[in-house]
Amino acid sequence: MNSPHDLEFYEREIDPFLPDRIYDAHTHIWKPEFYSFSEQAVDWNDYQSAMTELHGNRPTYAMFIPFVGKDSLAYQLEANEWAAQQKDAHQLNRCNFFVKPEDDCDWILEHATRLGATGLKCYHTMAKTKPTWEADIQAFLPEHQVRLCHEQGWFITLHIVKKEALANDANVECIRYYCEKYPQMQLILAHSARAFQPAHNLRGLPKLKGLSNLWFDSSANCEPMAHQAIFRILGHERFMYGCDYPVSHFHGRSLGTADSFLWLYEDSPVWGEKHAQVNPVLVGLEHLRSLKWACWSEKLTDNQIEDIFWNNAAQLFHLES
Ligand SMILES: [Zn+2]
Repeated sequence: MNSPHDLEFYEREIDPFLPDRIYDAHTHIWKPEFYSFSEQAVDWNDYQSAMTELHGNRPTYAMFIPFVGKDSLAYQLEANEWAAQQKDAHQLNRCNFFVKPEDDCDWILEHATRLGATGLKCYHTMAKTKPTWEADIQAFLPEHQVRLCHEQGWFITLHIVKKEALANDANVECIRYYCEKYPQMQLILAHSARAFQPAHNLRGLPKLKGLSNLWFDSSANCEPMAHQAIFRILGHERFMYGCDYPVSHFHGRSLGTADSFLWLYEDSPVWGEKHAQVNPVLVGLEHLRSLKWACWSEKLTDNQIEDIFWNNAAQLFHLES
């Protein structure tokens, strides 16, 4: 998948920046029947070999997130089982459990416990709202599932939607309500709170101060200011690296523009500029450089960078126990 441009970029921009070990707090593992990320199934060994393109030979462990499309819900349980099996390849791995809003707590608890999952994954495409990109959080993460996580001490990986992400008050109010009412539930806002347009974080994060069970994963967001806003407003202790494999292995990047954002991929017709032919690199490498720049701008120390790439995840996912 990677090109000479990727390797050169990795060696120049990423290798000197990365700490000695990596915890990937948001990443996927799948079979094509669950979701057609690729034609082949991807297991722990495939994941490990893909990660060498981002992390060299640094030890890398992960929290695996199962995923199923709207048309393949028949595979929901199998997708959860697949993620759990890959998690079992190493004791430092974790996984969560993919839920639909209508799933009841007894069923979730029975299967998540059986599989050793310690959190939930919800997704907006499961909401009844049309379009689901504008769904309220409650439409794909109902309160009874949040209560279950509180009772079990589980985390939730939440990719918020709506045009303005955290700049939307309904999102902020729901996050505050869930976090305050269910303090043992740990809420992770994916993609640096989906601030692919960082202005949305600058507007919304000040309203989320003081929540000790609110976390962020960086997953594939390529805008330095999105991460930097979290470090400065809420603290780097809330923040975890996540590469969002397989998104990490497309070529291109997310790009904030106007009050929104674009995703540029290899086949987007933008790479032939007046002055040069631009060779897009892996999203995962662009993402890591955005983290490097955020850490540099906020003057994070080496120890604080290790927090982002390991220690914060170790705390949230109880890696020591
Ligand atoms: Zn993801």
